[in-house]
Amino acid sequence: MSDPAVEAAQRQLAAQFGHDWSSMKLIVPTALRVRTEVAREALKPIRELHKPIWGNCGHMCCSGEECRMRTRVCGHDYDEWPCDTAKLVYTTEELDGE
Ligand SMILES: [Zn+2]
Ligand SMILES: [Zn+2]
Repeated sequence: MSDPAVEAAQRQLAAQFGHDWSSMKLIVPTALRVRTEVAREALKPIRELHKPIWGNCGHMCCSGEECRMRTRVCGHDYDEWPCDTAKLVYTTEELDGE
C-alpha cells in the first residue's frame, strides 16, 4: 500500500540524512513516525475538502445514494472519485477500501 504521509516522511529523511537513512537504526522508528504525523496533519485540511459524496444519474429528482446508477464523486470538484487531489492525500488502502 502507498501512504502519502509516510512517503513524504521518507523523502524528508533522505534529504536530511542521505539515501541510506533507513540503515540508521537509532533514528528511524521515531524519526519516521514524527515526520509522518506532521505530514498527515498537513494533509488533513485537503482531505477535509476532497471527500467522496454520492453523485447521481443526472436526473434532478435523483437522490444519489439510493439510485441504481449512482456513482461516487469528489464533493469539492465533482470529478469521479478518487479525484486527482484525493490520490495525493489518501492512502491506497483508504481509496480501495471504500
Ligand atoms: Zn477532489
Ligand atoms: Zn438516479
